[in-house]
Amino acid sequence: MSVFANALKQLEAAAAVAVPAGETMAVLKQPKRIFEVSFPVHLDDGSTRVFTGYRVQYDDSRGPYKGGIRFHPQTDLDEVKALAFWMTIKCAVVGVPFGGGKGGVTVEPKNFSEAELERLSRAYFRAIAPFVGPDVDVPAPDVNTNPKIMAWFADEYARYVGRQLPGVVTGKPLSVGGSKGRMSATGQGGLFVLDEHLRNEGREVAETRIVIQGFGNAGQHFARLADERGYRIVAVSDSRGAMLNTSGLDVQALIEHKNKTGGVSGFVGGQQADPNRILETECEVIVPAALENQLTLDNASKIQAGVVLELANGPTTPEADEVLIERGVVVIPDVLANAGGVAVSYFEWVQNRQGYYWSYDEVRAQLEKRMTVAYADVRQEAEAHHTTFRKAAFVMALRRIAEAREARGWQ
Ligand code: NAD
Repeated sequence: MSVFANALKQLEAAAAVAVPAGETMAVLKQPKRIFEVSFPVHLDDGSTRVFTGYRVQYDDSRGPYKGGIRFHPQTDLDEVKALAFWMTIKCAVVGVPFGGGKGGVTVEPKNFSEAELERLSRAYFRAIAPFVGPDVDVPAPDVNTNPKIMAWFADEYARYVGRQLPGVVTGKPLSVGGSKGRMSATGQGGLFVLDEHLRNEGREVAETRIVIQGFGNAGQHFARLADERGYRIVAVSDSRGAMLNTSGLDVQALIEHKNKTGGVSGFVGGQQADPNRILETECEVIVPAALENQLTLDNASKIQAGVVLELANGPTTPEADEVLIERGVVVIPDVLANAGGVAVSYFEWVQNRQGYYWSYDEVRAQLEKRMTVAYADVRQEAEAHHTTFRKAAFVMALRRIAEAREARGWQ
């Protein structure tokens, strides 16, 4: 299943609601630039392997390209193009002055020692260093990359340009120019959006049961914050297993268990469940927070939840989307639900450029404001066009991109 083809189907579906001005549609059907790099890495056993990596610069109408870097064995150009496209839409939805980009390396990092991972990360960043920069293209973490890797990237870039430019990458550790609240930003942003949605629908937090697929950066922080807020987290899965507790999982204890054992499986505070059917669990809200194509024609008709909050990028195929719409399931799309990550990345970039750092409360308040406004904008757009949140978010983003293109004289 081509992820990029799915992304383009979403674009076409939005254009059927409202065609963006000028050449925007034609321009957004492919990325502006694609870099494919290969680089050798010395492994601990003395051998050398050559890896392939990508950086896709999709669109920069609204500002420098922005988007994370993924290390995954299934990562390929098709996936990176789709993710870069979604970043273009997402930055416009949440109103940050960036375009869209994404990067990736085809690798299973779990098989690597820390030293190998550092050599791989630095080699990849050396390969793309000529094409990035704080005013050009700003990477960030994604699946299997983290603040430590972002610090190696920033360091490699400083060597390349001969001075420190921490704004070249976001999601860094606090000690080298990271922002408070960046680690939890995607989960926190998703939670602000869910809170707003339930408030608009007149629904109660305490009566809302949540199931989460994926327990990494996005899923884990969301689970912790939602639990603290009073939601009941009834099931959680990761790549190795799933745990269920209909009275509510003890999320803090589950996080400690995962930190100790590497997975959620075997947690004493719940029953083992089937990770392949976790999204079919009885609950009010499901939160895909792992990878693409998780809600498909195979399981869309079995979803019991009334709301899907897409913390992952591209978790719902266009065909599954249709089934969910028919069944009256509300999908809060990735380009809105997980935009908290790029919102706080923007705050980090601003802080790096000013050399002045904000308090956690300031970051949180600014994030809440942005996510609340983005939700209200998308809801209003959906009501105006009598359409879904996904199509509404795309229509709004396409209009904002078209405005920027027109202002630059790019039409
Ligand atoms: P991560 O590497 O921290 O975590 C990924 C999690 O997904 C892990 O717990 C892994 O075990 C789990 N997983 C993998 N395959 C699975 C499967 N088949 N079933 C269940 N779980 C599975 O990555 P992350 O940063 O949390 O990213 C997760 C998703 O959120 C991705 O789609 C990513 O693009 C998106 N996202 C992340 C950010 C961010 O700031 N990190 C921002 C926006 C969107």
